[in-house]
Amino acid sequence: MTSKRPAFPLQLDSLSGSKPKVKPAAAPVRPAVKVVQDRPLSPVHRPVHGMDSAAVRAHMVQKLAQGGIKDSAVLQAMGTVERHRFVETALVNQAYEDTSLPIGLGQTISKPNVVARMIELLRNGAAGKLGRVLEVGTGCGYQAAVLSHIATEVYSIERLKGLHEKARENLRAFRLHNVHLLFGDGMAGFAKGAPYAAIIAAAGGNNIPQAWLDQLALGGRLVAPMMTPAGHQALVVVDKSAQGFQHQVLETVHFVPLKSGIS
Ligand code: SAH
Repeated sequence: MTSKRPAFPLQLDSLSGSKPKVKPAAAPVRPAVKVVQDRPLSPVHRPVHGMDSAAVRAHMVQKLAQGGIKDSAVLQAMGTVERHRFVETALVNQAYEDTSLPIGLGQTISKPNVVARMIELLRNGAAGKLGRVLEVGTGCGYQAAVLSHIATEVYSIERLKGLHEKARENLRAFRLHNVHLLFGDGMAGFAKGAPYAAIIAAAGGNNIPQAWLDQLALGGRLVAPMMTPAGHQALVVVDKSAQGFQHQVLETVHFVPLKSGIS
């Protein structure tokens, strides 16, 4: 297991509050001379839908707000992180649609509204930033980047080496000094970073691993998909206090399975 920090802070957009303005797309300018490129544009530089990505993102944030996300810190983080940098070139035009997308090795990046909903639950109306947060299932690193805006430190663990490396590569340009990418089995949590103010899982099992409950701070909150006795996956919120644990089972979700071991 490694805990190297990728180095960098992300530039904050000027988005504020829950109703960012959508800039109209600039009219496409046709070059008078055909520009010959020896390499295709990388997702980083490629415009989305022919619009500048901040405008498309602001539109996505507007939809999230219309869909019921109220926490302005969450909306601001969602408006800041360039989701199109985390998906493959062929999928860039879908990066700001409310859809999950394949990220390789049979895994998916979660829908923006699910990411926003889970982080809103995780924050639970906190006044400032959360402290240390553990994310289980780094995937392509998108949610870790969003979390980096609402937490002081993010520990994100992935069991598939290929995705752990992909996330490291995806996150490099963002220079997020507070994101720590770890390779390992997240079912055991990451004891060295404990206790966590919050734990969020992007993969669902049949129950909540004991290690997560142990590593949650008193006053901390865990949000994870979990299989219910009724046989469907639902979002579960667990609050830990001196009196014990309180569970809430919320809406149905569809996450990839939580698996043990590394690969
Ligand atoms: N948050 C991610 C979503 C990735 S999908 C994103 O923004 O892209 C869920 C991820 O959980 C997958 O990459 C899968 O490999 C990983 N996963 C499943 N079981 C795991 C475990 N026990 N430990 C760590 N990661 C796990």
